Amino acid sequence: MRGAAARVARTLPLALSMMLITGCGGGDSGTSGGGDQPSAAEQRLAQFAPTTIAFDDSLLNANQRTVVAKLVEASRHLDDAFKLQAWRDNAHPEEVLPAGTSDEADAIREYFRIMYGPWDALDSDEPFLDVGEKPEGAGFYPEDMTREDFDTWIEEHPEDREAFTSGYTVIRRTGKGGLEAIPYSEAFRAELEPAARALREAAAAADNPSLKTFLEKRADALLSDEYYDSEVAWMRLEDNLIDPTLGPYEVYEDGLFGQKTSFESFIGLKDPGASQQLARLEGFLRDLEQALPIPDEHKYLDRPFKAPISVIDLVYSAGETRKGVQTIAFNLPNDPKVRENEGSKKVMLRNVIQAKFDRILKPIAEEVLVREQADRIGPNPYFTRVLMHELSHALGPDYVTGKPDVTVGQGLKDRYSAIEEAKADAVGTHSLGVLTDRGEYDEEFRQEIYIDHVADMFRCIRFGATEAHGLGCLTQLNYLLQNGAITYDEETGKFAADLEAMPEVMSDLAGQYLLLEATGDYEGAGQFLERYGTMPPEVKDALDRLAGRVPVDLDPQYAVMDEMEGWE
Ligand code: ZN
Repeated sequence: MRGAAARVARTLPLALSMMLITGCGGGDSGTSGGGDQPSAAEQRLAQFAPTTIAFDDSLLNANQRTVVAKLVEASRHLDDAFKLQAWRDNAHPEEVLPAGTSDEADAIREYFRIMYGPWDALDSDEPFLDVGEKPEGAGFYPEDMTREDFDTWIEEHPEDREAFTSGYTVIRRTGKGGLEAIPYSEAFRAELEPAARALREAAAAADNPSLKTFLEKRADALLSDEYYDSEVAWMRLEDNLIDPTLGPYEVYEDGLFGQKTSFESFIGLKDPGASQQLARLEGFLRDLEQALPIPDEHKYLDRPFKAPISVIDLVYSAGETRKGVQTIAFNLPNDPKVRENEGSKKVMLRNVIQAKFDRILKPIAEEVLVREQADRIGPNPYFTRVLMHELSHALGPDYVTGKPDVTVGQGLKDRYSAIEEAKADAVGTHSLGVLTDRGEYDEEFRQEIYIDHVADMFRCIRFGATEAHGLGCLTQLNYLLQNGAITYDEETGKFAADLEAMPEVMSDLAGQYLLLEATGDYEGAGQFLERYGTMPPEVKDALDRLAGRVPVDLDPQYAVMDEMEGWE
């Protein structure tokens, strides 16, 4: 059933987006001129350009093909688990989905597939079906439970604190109207048991010992909720071609507390040459921590600064990362204990980065930037900025200063994700400036980085202000505009990076996010997000010009799904 749905997806939306891009004649009503005006659902769907994500399958021997096929199988079970995390009613989507075969009904079902539910993440989570508001706590908590209910429960039942705030439990109502925490291994047993089985089968076929170890430990973890050992095993993967990252990771979906992790999966093939080339950046991390624009008391100069970088071509993805906007790079694990002892690993999804540059960033730059800056956009600065964004997640405060048992995430709660994503952007660009000052990059490249940063904020604010990256980008854009680092020409409607002002303003901005994190200032974070989180009219105009012309993001069509059919 899934295979058939995927095949529909490969052909149908392409036709729709072509229709939008080429326009559909002059007819307003759409009944004349031979082309129908696309419905609202079709227009929404056209924001995602179906894009083939391919890899070089000649790199895989017969055993490795088995490993990949088993990892894809495990990923699909994790995808099913994530659906239930995103919305409990995903257990029976047919109750809300249209049944017809019209283009509109098809588009609604496709958009529901992309959003993992009936709310539009690109439009402040507005429902596109008749289901009411999105529950803030997604499928992780009872839909009628408030923050206060949760906090009160823990106050009255301190022995429940650990289980309730765990990243690996869901909260449910008990029969008597109380609350209880249920471990993921129990709540999602029907999905996690077959996922673990597929991982063990993949481990059995794997030749690389570190890969075998990771897959076995991760299979155990799915059934025991004890992830530490498998996180460490993931950090210690080496000399592996197949590079899988799968399990419960990010907390973006938990809008109530930002504490429950979502299942997701990335299956990639590693390029050892490219990975090694970037590894030299690891050597600068201590200096970059030292160069953070905050007082020294908030810096972590004693951490290991291990930052292995993996460059992969993505073969398959599933779960939370597949929802809405597609990931181009990530930095994991998030568990501060693992990060303290083992560091964290950055994974760059090279084929996805290139696809987004070609299909989205370049066309956006041409529309919103002044000509001479649009001409300087290129894939290399984009790739480097994405990499520095990931490295920067590992810089700056992990814990609230003076409170060694309170992580920054616990301090900033639901406001953490947006602040952390914006921090990674601003600290990343600031740090590239620092490396330029040290002669690692030339002045021309530094300017291209700033220009890229400006264009990229327009790419990312289109994700919507309810999404961590989208809101984070909006606050950066407003701050840079208000402080003169970005200029706007009313005549042409074009923006430009002020290359003189940029270095200092960017450092100030990075300092703002870092300080909010260091102090765990929940109120301050709220004020900052409110002050800089609104859409200026000139930016809105620019976004309107992009709408319908440049896709917001990709709807990945993984070539492996076809290739696997020839592997049997
Ligand atoms: Zn990030």
